[in-house]
Amino acid sequence: MGKPTGFMEVARVENPYRDEAARLRDFEDLHVHQPTQARRAQASRCMNCGVPFCQSDFGCPLNNLIPEWNDLLYRGKEREALARLLQTAPFPEFTGRVCPALCEKACNLESDALTNRDNELYLIETGFEKGWVQPRIPRRRTGRRVAVVGSGPAGLATADRLNRLGHAVTVVERADRAGGLLMYGIPNMKLPKRIVDRRMSLMEAEGIHFLLNTDASPDDLRDFDAVALCGGAKQPRALNVEGIFAVDYLTAATRAVLSGNTPVIDARGRHVVVVGGGDTGNDCVGTALRQGCASVIQLEMMPAPPIERAAGNPWPEWPRTLRTDYGQKEAIHRQGSDPRIYETTVKQLLPGGVETVKLKGFDPIPGTERVLPCDLLLIAAGFVGCETATAKRFDVKLSPRGCMMPEDGSHHLRANLFSAGDMRTGQSLVVRALADGRAAALEIDRYLKGDAQ
Ligand SMILES: Cc1cc2nc3c(=O)[nH]c(=O)nc-3n(C[C@H](O)[C@H](O)[C@H](O)COP(=O)(O)OP(=O)(O)OC[C@H]3O[C@@H](n4cnc5c(N)ncnc54)[C@H](O)[C@@H]3O)c2cc1C
Repeated sequence: MGKPTGFMEVARVENPYRDEAARLRDFEDLHVHQPTQARRAQASRCMNCGVPFCQSDFGCPLNNLIPEWNDLLYRGKEREALARLLQTAPFPEFTGRVCPALCEKACNLESDALTNRDNELYLIETGFEKGWVQPRIPRRRTGRRVAVVGSGPAGLATADRLNRLGHAVTVVERADRAGGLLMYGIPNMKLPKRIVDRRMSLMEAEGIHFLLNTDASPDDLRDFDAVALCGGAKQPRALNVEGIFAVDYLTAATRAVLSGNTPVIDARGRHVVVVGGGDTGNDCVGTALRQGCASVIQLEMMPAPPIERAAGNPWPEWPRTLRTDYGQKEAIHRQGSDPRIYETTVKQLLPGGVETVKLKGFDPIPGTERVLPCDLLLIAAGFVGCETATAKRFDVKLSPRGCMMPEDGSHHLRANLFSAGDMRTGQSLVVRALADGRAAALEIDRYLKGDAQ
């Protein structure tokens, strides 16, 4: 039932970040994790308000039973709380680290919201530590075989649910390691890669087969009863100037962290300009600083967002307000000023520099050109849908947004072919990809049951 007065007695305290100077020396976890008593006290702040927007679609695409597991955590029943969390959340160790926590923005306490993300992370990590998280092997197998193409959060969530329903699942992944953008995209300091590998080992122990280094094609998947395409939406938006795409840069950085080698694309000693003021651009800023860049600037076409919610952006919607993320804070620490320059884009690359121009709307303002030092231009200007090669190979017509979204809004493309995650919806969030994968798995299960009759 929660503690009705908890939020008045205990202040919101998030897991603090490690100090900038220390964390810039390595690619290790950004946060310091709080001990049990602090977590229980934070959970006591949930008053079970009766209108839990946190667990509605506004707050949590997975519809996590947030007031219920906060109450159990507050009462010291961590194991029960984790069980409640796992009813809806397939991989809390991912969302507990990288979710922007839409639920906290939808909390009735608004800016004083519960620390749901940190509480979630505490529960799952306690579960791993105490041995409560064990392989859950289905008691009965259905004899049906499903191939899941892509091992990002959508593919993993699809595979996980189908496996629990008793189907034999093979995940086909092009990369050398499983995880999609969880592995090669989101940097190690936000999501340490050992955490991704730990989950893969668990899923393998549960009976899921991973086929890595394999570019899926329909011919190879002919023997499967159903195929789920979960290949992501990593087709980057190109610019009028040549640069290195953010995901390629971040992938090279993670490969270097994992191998201990020098990154193939290295920012060390270079002046870095990142085009794109969003989260991916911020990850590039944090990575370039850790690699020892000479300087880093982040260009954003749009004006700076407001400090407070605008009238057309009321609670419980996600607030479109100014946020200063970890990489930007680190740049302020290192360089003394915010790396972001708003309403500005690149005009042309010059030897050792880049010419920028101010924008009004999307139009350049003549006479506002300026040259910034630049020997590494990173493009983090968003994504325009999924790769056309996979669509062609599987003979799927893409939606106007470049995605595999069936016209009826379902996950069912045709016959035994399904889609899920960013490949279906366009570039989104880990939590949405997980929810989409879980929904796709239920559609596939229904299809297989109908097909089997
Ligand atoms: C740099 C970056 C940082 C991000 N940070 C966050 C964050 O902090 N929080 C958050 O919530 N969201 C974040 N996102 C968004 C989030 O990562 C994605 O929305 C999510 O990963 C999508 O999951 P997915 O499974 O649909 O696709 P992906 O994670 O893109 O996985 C798709 C997988 O399919 C594989 N694949 C594609 N085609 C084939 C084929 N033909 N054969 C075999 N394999 C194939 C790919 O190799 C890839 O591994 C970030 C995105 C980026 C780019």
